[in-house]
Amino acid sequence: MFDWLVVGAGFAGSVIAERLASQRDEKVLLIDRRPHIGGNAYDCRDKAGVLIHQYGPHIFHTNSAAIFSYLSKFTDWRPYEHRVLAEVDGMQVPIPINLTTINQLYGLGLSSAELEAWLATRAEPVDEIRTAEDVVVSTVGRELYEKFFRGYTRKQWGVDPCELDKAVTARVPTRTNTDDRYFSDKYQYMPKGGYTKMFERMVDHPKIDIMLGADYRDVKDTVRYRRIIFTGPIDEFFDYRFGRLPYRSLRFEHVTQDKTWHQSVAVVNYPQTNDYTRVTEYKHLTGQRHPKTSITYEYPAADGDPYYPVPRPENAELFKRYENLALRTKDVWFVGRLATYRYYNMDQVVGQALSTFRRIEEAVPSKTGVTPVRKEESDAATSLVAAI
Ligand code: FAD
Ligand code: UDP
Repeated sequence: MFDWLVVGAGFAGSVIAERLASQRDEKVLLIDRRPHIGGNAYDCRDKAGVLIHQYGPHIFHTNSAAIFSYLSKFTDWRPYEHRVLAEVDGMQVPIPINLTTINQLYGLGLSSAELEAWLATRAEPVDEIRTAEDVVVSTVGRELYEKFFRGYTRKQWGVDPCELDKAVTARVPTRTNTDDRYFSDKYQYMPKGGYTKMFERMVDHPKIDIMLGADYRDVKDTVRYRRIIFTGPIDEFFDYRFGRLPYRSLRFEHVTQDKTWHQSVAVVNYPQTNDYTRVTEYKHLTGQRHPKTSITYEYPAADGDPYYPVPRPENAELFKRYENLALRTKDVWFVGRLATYRYYNMDQVVGQALSTFRRIEEAVPSKTGVTPVRKEESDAATSLVAAI
């Protein structure tokens, strides 16, 4: 008899499993339908021995000292600041758009102040910034939007930016200085031995049993447990009762090349050309030295494993219906990118998992006996806290 069945061994499931076992001394069965732990952050050595990310590039970044400190229990870190180039008009220039990008692209020698004025003449006033298109055209104007964002976004999401929530392109800032880092968070690191090693340490606990290649559907009636943490797609949990929530998928083409390096930075984006969106070269991320190099092409796809919730108003509406159902479902907690249908980064999922654990502490008496509160009340409180 397990105290908890945790479905999904990605960040959401592994963090909660670790907390339940180490802090409450409760017995956890952690399952995943994939043959490995780590979820989408899983990394492994390919045939040539190069450490690659099976599901595309994962760079850890956060502003939260608490989240960084929590993960530091399970890994040492390698300082790494992510830099990305975009191939535009035949040139490879920095993205996010910054002073260097504009000077290179247009053959100019603008200063930061001059670039601000230059952008101001191009930016289009937008009354209410609602869509992924509005965010960009209101900042840099239509020409740069077309060059850097429209094609990439249409490829990545299969819809025009004007049909997506502003949060999608708001992830990528515009800078008038020469800061060419992709992220500006306080903590930017890669786990020193890789993500999988970090996960192995996280779930290595005598109270955690792991079952891989095991789907919830097949396990739920064959083992005994008191409560569930579910981190898979929420619509799947409820047998698509209200219809399917759209997720965007990707096909990854992993290639090893018989040369030391393929490109000058870890990621090159292709907003104007090719069917793939970006090419990642892992040795830049991991610091591994190897005579060969491995790269991944990312081809967006409508069908396949669910990787991205699609931020659009009608999808948010549909998710709300499932969320309401979830709030009424006793003894099941929904956590993570698929179960809460949020376009979250790894640190946000860790934060959400840690706050769910705090909620469980309030709602479920542990063996030491804590006064429970009704699940609905604490769920509502946590949806406010969730966006750490
Ligand atoms: P997942 O990692 O998806 O884990 C869920 C697990 O549940 C999966 O392993 C799945 O197999 C399992 N599962 C689902 N349903 C069932 C079932 N019925 N039975 C059994 N098991 C089930 N974040 C960053 O911070 N930085 C980045 O650079 C970054 N890059 C990314 C690049 C790509 C291409 C993608 C797709 C995501 C990226 N992310 C990045 C986001 C990051 O992957 C997620 O935030 C994080 O992995 C989500 O963790 P999770 O546990 O919620 O979900
Ligand atoms: N984007 C773009 N061009 C780029 C980079 C990003 O149009 O060169 C848009 C695109 O819609 C993308 C979103 O900004 O999906 C967020 O980019 P990010 O790099 O954060 O995507 P992720 O790493 O989550 O796939």
